[in-house]
Amino acid sequence: MKNAFITFWGCRGSIATPGRSTERYGGNTSCICLKYDNAYYIFDAGTGIRGLGVELMDFVEDHYDGEPIELNIFLSHTHWDHIQGLPFFQPAYDSRFKLNIYGSENQDEMLEKTLSGQMNSVYFPVPMSQLNADLNVHVDLHAIDIHGVKISSTDQDHPGGSTAFKTILDKDRTFVYATDNELDLQFNSDGTPKNKMGQRYFNFISAVDYLIADGQYTDEEYLDKVGWGHTSLSLIHKVAYAAGVKNLVIYHHDPMHTDSILEDLSHKYMQQYESLTPAMQVIWAREGLTIPLRS
Ligand SMILES: [Zn+2]
Ligand SMILES: [Zn+2]
Repeated sequence: MKNAFITFWGCRGSIATPGRSTERYGGNTSCICLKYDNAYYIFDAGTGIRGLGVELMDFVEDHYDGEPIELNIFLSHTHWDHIQGLPFFQPAYDSRFKLNIYGSENQDEMLEKTLSGQMNSVYFPVPMSQLNADLNVHVDLHAIDIHGVKISSTDQDHPGGSTAFKTILDKDRTFVYATDNELDLQFNSDGTPKNKMGQRYFNFISAVDYLIADGQYTDEEYLDKVGWGHTSLSLIHKVAYAAGVKNLVIYHHDPMHTDSILEDLSHKYMQQYESLTPAMQVIWAREGLTIPLRS
């Protein structure tokens, strides 16, 4: 079995929150990377992707053999916290890299325009046309198979829309990246689906090895944020457990959640779900965390 590792480069939702009170879980916005047999599958390009770019520049110095190094970037949607790091991603400026950027046709029919728009001189000094990498933007997410890694997708409930991605390695190692999704509008409080979108999501995450999921709000906070596109913590745990998820990774942390708040929340839910039979492992995503992907 080939090695597969997921690394978290940014776990924060909404806006980057550097500082002393967030140094343990990190302040960079959404970005994770699956490295599988020397291929890279990147999910979202929030500010966290900048650090990944620095590491990839070191890698290219040692490993470039004349063939372009391929990076596949899957964008859940184009809210700022998911694309803002792209203009600071060094491989995009380097002709030794090939960048394939995937986004949903439904949600992101203007994907290329949106990405180049954030590099308009009003916002940023360097235009997208000056990116030297071989850049390809794809808005067809059907039947993606890149070097034997299969990636499927489903729509989520989020203002402007967002996409969840399921990755399957070697037929039986699976993970779902599903951020910016308001499950509270799709599920009853006991974790059962209450509409078609909820049922589709339930089937999509069913029995996956790892679910990386939006858990932005406490149950109390959610009451003031209905319709903002994010999920309450108790509900994501109930839905994941009911769907037979083996490991739940809570992601897209609220900017107001300091390290001590996240620590308290994580202890509460970890103890609750790891003591059940069967147990579900609960992990609170933090910047720099690497998870080996085993089935
Ligand atoms: Zn977000
Ligand atoms: Zn969003």
